[in-house]
Amino acid sequence: MNDMKKSTKQRSCVGCRKKADKSEFLRIVFFDKKLVVDTEQKLDGRGCYLCLKKDCLTMAIKRNAFNYRLKQKVSKEELARFRDQFEKYLP
Ligand SMILES: [Zn+2]
Repeated sequence: MNDMKKSTKQRSCVGCRKKADKSEFLRIVFFDKKLVVDTEQKLDGRGCYLCLKKDCLTMAIKRNAFNYRLKQKVSKEELARFRDQFEKYLP
């Protein structure tokens, strides 16, 4: 279910659960057993959204929010790798 119409549907951060338009978040998808930042918001697959805040990533990891939201088993190693990658996107 992916219509091309401009949607006003709100998304919520997997860390702090704040709701906002998806343009305010970083979209993250699980692809090839890796967490990938979907900068174009175009990648297929189950995605989740995260604020551009380190605290939100920390909260999401603590709560296993990625496993839950993406319905995937994300390894600790992958979470550590992703944390390094995520920091490059921080303002
Ligand atoms: Zn957040």
